[in-house]
Amino acid sequence: MAGMNTQAMAIVVLGQGSLATARRLQQRYPQARIHGLSGRVEGADHLYASFGDTLRALYRAGVPIIALCAAGIVIRSLAAVLDEKGSEPPVLAVAEDGSAVVPLLGGLSGVNGLARELGEALGVAAAITTSGELRFGTCLLNPPPGYALADLEQGKRFVSDLLAGEPLRIEGAAPWLAQAPLTQADDARLTLRVGCTARPASRDELLIHPRSVLVAVDETQPELARRVREALAAANIAQASLACLLASEPAMAEPAVHAAARELGVILRFAPAGVSVSERAQQALAGAQVIEQDGLAIAVAAAPFDAQQIGRGRGRLAVIGLGPGAAELMVPAVKAELARAEDVLGYETYVRMAGPFRDDQVLHCTDNREEMQRARHAFALAAQGRSVVVVSSGDPGVFAMAAAVLEALHESDDPAWHRVDLQILPGVSASLATAAQAGAPLGHDFCVLSLSDNLKPWSIIETRLDLAAQADLVLAFYNPISKARPWQLGQALDVVRRHRDGRTPVVLGRDIGRPGQTLKVVTLAELLPEMVDMRTMVLVGSSTTCVFQHPGGVQWVYTPRWYPPHG
Ligand code: SAH
Repeated sequence: MAGMNTQAMAIVVLGQGSLATARRLQQRYPQARIHGLSGRVEGADHLYASFGDTLRALYRAGVPIIALCAAGIVIRSLAAVLDEKGSEPPVLAVAEDGSAVVPLLGGLSGVNGLARELGEALGVAAAITTSGELRFGTCLLNPPPGYALADLEQGKRFVSDLLAGEPLRIEGAAPWLAQAPLTQADDARLTLRVGCTARPASRDELLIHPRSVLVAVDETQPELARRVREALAAANIAQASLACLLASEPAMAEPAVHAAARELGVILRFAPAGVSVSERAQQALAGAQVIEQDGLAIAVAAAPFDAQQIGRGRGRLAVIGLGPGAAELMVPAVKAELARAEDVLGYETYVRMAGPFRDDQVLHCTDNREEMQRARHAFALAAQGRSVVVVSSGDPGVFAMAAAVLEALHESDDPAWHRVDLQILPGVSASLATAAQAGAPLGHDFCVLSLSDNLKPWSIIETRLDLAAQADLVLAFYNPISKARPWQLGQALDVVRRHRDGRTPVVLGRDIGRPGQTLKVVTLAELLPEMVDMRTMVLVGSSTTCVFQHPGGVQWVYTPRWYPPHG
């Protein structure tokens, strides 16, 4: 549905039987997420425990809801939280076999249009019951993207007069109504007016503002939002017509411009510096009428324009951690970042793990060792205004891409790189995921080491191992062994054994959170390098780490919170 937040749309399913229908709908809306009842549905994007709580939370968050179940269940679940008409998301019930689409709530946020689209996708007619919608084929109070209704209450009265049979006169351009079966008359009392001019509400008028105005700002001025509002008022232009603020590129990272755009609820774009605000406005919207007002330039176009096509946006670069592999262990902020990404960079295995991706998302898979090159490539893309994601497994700050990305930025004197919106989003690191499966081996002080001597000398690794083992820290080994580094682990264990008893528990987690994961608990004496490969996490206990048998046959490993006083 154009203009709607399809990214966050939730398809809620109660049983495995409706998953096929959910998937068909997801093909039509690739950004929609399938929410499945935990224990009943396999293969959903999110699992939930309570249907009612989930539905209410989604509704309160304004997320469009497609529930694959009886309409009655949805009505009962939402009854307690039903909001004022006007501010609610679309809510629809769809029969689990896809044979019926019933729009329930959200007439003003486009539920009927969405119902028609879903009906089309499923090959059935939507059960539209809204009289205005049936009569006019559109909801007059919900103009298409690019247009904003001036006053909802006013509009409701207008539409009921229209439904009573009065004719209508259209002033200004309303291309979306060209095919609508409206009775028009030049001398009609009721007027549908489309224009940027600010006008007081009138009972006989349905006022719709095209989002066709851009304001070029001088970002050095204080209180930008207020100045823009005042300038628009002085020029007699409705604030609802404002689509875009245009600042100069050097101001890309200025919090004040971003705050102003947020406050005004408009898109923020940037154009090269070195010209006056009027010239900037004129260049951005060729042919628009430009009004200079109080150090700002207001450009009024003849029709709504796509603000995303004006100048350029601030690029974003997010370095994300996928967690060990399982979708449930990926943090929601990372999922949201993946959904908004235009470019995805990373080692091929991790990029594949982060999918599925949409056709419009560009994947740049590279070899695992080309970290700095990948980091620079990511900045080059983000500096063009793109939304870029660099993926790491586990946490991006633990032997992964975040440090490489920061190093690339630190080395660079390209101002465009420094203006990028850089975010590091954490993930569950392999040591933590492995520890959680084993119990709590990292319950007391521990030390994290990479045994790879690709990027540091082996002597440093040996020194650290020696000191950490001597300090009686639990040890977590990343990159314990590989084909190119066959002997290092054996040598590392020799160092550890100098300080630690052979009965010390060792946890070996392989492919944790991935298909075919294994978890083994052995003693330090039993541990052989052959038991370990590069997909294994090695956790070596301290003198206080213990193991006990769990009834299911597994063993729990933990390191107590306390430490015996030194004798
Ligand atoms: N950033 C990653 C670590 C990258 S180093 C993180 O935070 O987890 C790669 C090493 O991590 C591997 O050699 C292995 O020792 C460990 N590792 C990564 N994923 C793992 C998994 N799913 N199970 C066990 N060990 C894993």
